[in-house]
Amino acid sequence: MTAWIEALQALLKPDQLTTNPTALEHHSHDESYHAPRLPDVVVYPETTDDVARILRFADERRIPIVPFGVGSSLEGHVVPLEGGISLDMTRMNRILEVRADDFLVRVEAGLTRTALNKALASYGLFFSVDPGADATLGGMAATNASGTTAVRYGVMRDQVRGMTVVLADGRVLHLGGPYVKSSSGYDLKNLFIGSEGTLGVITELWLRLYGLPEAVAAARVTFPSVRQAVEAAHGMLKMNLSLARVELVDRTSIRQMNAMKRTAYPEADTLFLEFHGSPTALEADVRTAEAFVREYGAADVHMERDKAARERLWEARHHLAYAYLHAHPGKKQLVTDVCVPLSALAEGIETARRELEARGLEGGVLGHIGDGNFHTIVMIDTDDPHEVATAEALHEALVRYALQNGGTATGEHGVGIGKVKYQAEEHGLALSVMQDVKRMLDPHNILNPGKKVPPPGTAHRLTPMSVR
Ligand SMILES: Cc1cc2nc3c(=O)[nH]c(=O)nc-3n(C[C@H](O)[C@H](O)[C@H](O)COP(=O)(O)OP(=O)(O)OC[C@H]3O[C@@H](n4cnc5c(N)ncnc54)[C@H](O)[C@@H]3O)c2cc1C
Repeated sequence: MTAWIEALQALLKPDQLTTNPTALEHHSHDESYHAPRLPDVVVYPETTDDVARILRFADERRIPIVPFGVGSSLEGHVVPLEGGISLDMTRMNRILEVRADDFLVRVEAGLTRTALNKALASYGLFFSVDPGADATLGGMAATNASGTTAVRYGVMRDQVRGMTVVLADGRVLHLGGPYVKSSSGYDLKNLFIGSEGTLGVITELWLRLYGLPEAVAAARVTFPSVRQAVEAAHGMLKMNLSLARVELVDRTSIRQMNAMKRTAYPEADTLFLEFHGSPTALEADVRTAEAFVREYGAADVHMERDKAARERLWEARHHLAYAYLHAHPGKKQLVTDVCVPLSALAEGIETARRELEARGLEGGVLGHIGDGNFHTIVMIDTDDPHEVATAEALHEALVRYALQNGGTATGEHGVGIGKVKYQAEEHGLALSVMQDVKRMLDPHNILNPGKKVPPPGTAHRLTPMSVR
């Protein structure tokens, strides 16, 4: 053990620090194709005080520190590029306070969303953000996660009412709180949401809750083309039906889903829908939706009202990334995440499919299309530099499409390593203010260095799209 690790161990209980090779490996990567890098040590804080002590220690000695939830992110966010400490938050997993009448809960940041929802069921309440992966709430706040339900309930930023966050120098801030509205002070809370562990470590969250819907129905609807599916979804949103999820799964992805889940869904471009509401209103909306989608060429409209059947449907959707991995042993995934105005969505998705085919890459397109957010999953052999470069060129082409059409490089996954190079083009002058904020809050650049915001003076110009 090096001297600094021994000094850090002296601040903690023996089982709060490890250099065990398996633990180091687990904390060296996320779920993406980005190259892993081992941390020097993994540390498990149990309280906000622990986090403050560890950060002060790291700041004084200029040791890099990367907060780690469950490592389900998709852009190399948790890879310790410069070694140092991986700060595993999962021991801070308590529910501290349920205020059912206020529709609020206070949790520690290492709690996972499914553990929270299990505990909330007996109150008739639920936490709405569902990224599919069983992520920690701290990791979700740090990436401003969203997922399938954002079209109805909003993204992580809409749910966080307050937080406790520890700065790089160990100062502990309490931001926001158990109230709905405030015009007081600067809104620092929202600065930390989506900051990807580069500005501070979130240790506690006040989260907004919702009543469990009285009635829920899900549907799987196939279309002759992606464009018709997108236009039908757009039309249903205009009608303000009680939609809680509007997901597109393209025909290639349905094939992967069938292969892994042993489902027999028709191999066509498909919308997965969910409706939440009262029993009568929901029935009326479902009938209206069914008639409406048929005008857009919907062939197969399959309703799922039974809870177990609905869960199977959404599990198949949420495990799609794993279905691709399963079908491509040894390959890793690059997942694009652009978000565009709804009017640019159909063309964006068609562009993604053309890019995949023209570049000879394996993958498919799926998306939270009610939000204008879609993903291209590209399977790559990370030992094949040509394939990696081709997939990255596809990624860049889609980012260019998004930026040229008023969109953003990332709707929900965040920047991590993979989208740092797009930040200058996307943010222009605002990027220099972001760099100033980073310097002010983390002057020694110990917090998740190399992620989110490029160092001042670096610029990357996007290359023109090769396929139109
Ligand atoms: C199959 C699959 C499907 C997915 N689908 C979606 C989706 O639909 N929508 C979506 O938004 N995401 C999705 N994701 C991505 C991922 O689940 C989210 O980014 C999630 O929010 C990450 O949470 P985590 O606990 O795994 O955090 P990690 O991956 O461990 O960390 C993510 C980032 O947050 C930082 N961080 C973690 N905890 C803290 C903390 N307490 N304080 C400060 N910083 C912290 C880390 O340093 C890192 O930069 C998916 C991932 C997979 C594997």
